[in-house]
Amino acid sequence: MGDQDLSNELAGQGYQLVGKHSAVKMCYWTRESLVRGRDCYKGRFYGIESHRCLQMSPAIDSCNLHCRFCWRNQGWENDEVMAEYDDPEGLLDRSIDAQRRILSGFKGDAAVDLDRWEASQRPKHIAISLTGEPTLYPKMNRFLELCHERGITTFLVTNGTNPDALRALDPLPTQLYVSVTAPNPEVFRRLTLPADEHAWDHLLESLAIVRDLRTRRVIRHTLVKGWNLGWVDRYAELDAIARPDFIEPKGYVYMGKSRQRLGRDHVPSHEEVAEFARRLARRSGYLLLDESPDSKVLLLGLRAEGRFLPGQERELAPLPVLAAVA
Ligand code: SF4
Repeated sequence: MGDQDLSNELAGQGYQLVGKHSAVKMCYWTRESLVRGRDCYKGRFYGIESHRCLQMSPAIDSCNLHCRFCWRNQGWENDEVMAEYDDPEGLLDRSIDAQRRILSGFKGDAAVDLDRWEASQRPKHIAISLTGEPTLYPKMNRFLELCHERGITTFLVTNGTNPDALRALDPLPTQLYVSVTAPNPEVFRRLTLPADEHAWDHLLESLAIVRDLRTRRVIRHTLVKGWNLGWVDRYAELDAIARPDFIEPKGYVYMGKSRQRLGRDHVPSHEEVAEFARRLARRSGYLLLDESPDSKVLLLGLRAEGRFLPGQERELAPLPVLAAVA
């Protein structure tokens, strides 16, 4: 991390900085999983155990967008593929070490089951998201390969404006997320403030690439009330380009630095997100599979089976919203 002020600020926000351009941060749900046995919506939707999930970014100070709803600091970032970067072996080892340091204090917590804590020391899943655009890290392929060699599944979350990086992915992540946060170029420009005037076209190019990738593919719609919530027909057209396995409409969360750009009134209610999801399901022909009101997120899919990662199948109670759609 080149900038000492930035490093200090990130450390103050709870990021464990790793090497030159990466960070690990404990997710709220990792703590919930350790202390109360509750997993996040990725547990409910896909079987991820939150206490064994490591949330990290290999590009903490790199992004080519400036989304108003982004939690991170903005104004100092690089928007190009990194010229100097850490080797992926060291990055993975140091990220796991950082996660262990973060969770070390839970060992003596009377509320935490010791077996569960010990399992948390061996992450089984890495969410490559957190903040920044991870495809700007040039060694992503080797990083994914190392994770998979160690039996760690991967979720890679991209803003979709780097289609060349998607084309070059090898191996593919266990699950690839592409964020589609605007229904058209005008809203995209106003909400994500791209560094590159062709960013919208690049996103469309990525959606076409995603259609043919042979991994689990998810389109995420982060919905900000008053900005991009609506335009269901147009979102359905964009989703039809990628034809993903799953679609996740998710409400914007009023957190981090986004609070300097947006207000609480931009946070949609779960019911508003659910109504968007119901209409999108009808328009796109997807099934409404599940929801997590705690996280204001719903899951749409082409079929009910196959949503859990191998070995993570779960019994789930049906939810009222599903009946309402049927
Ligand atoms: S793409 Fe992600 S990291 Fe970049 S500005 Fe948008 S929300 Fe933040």
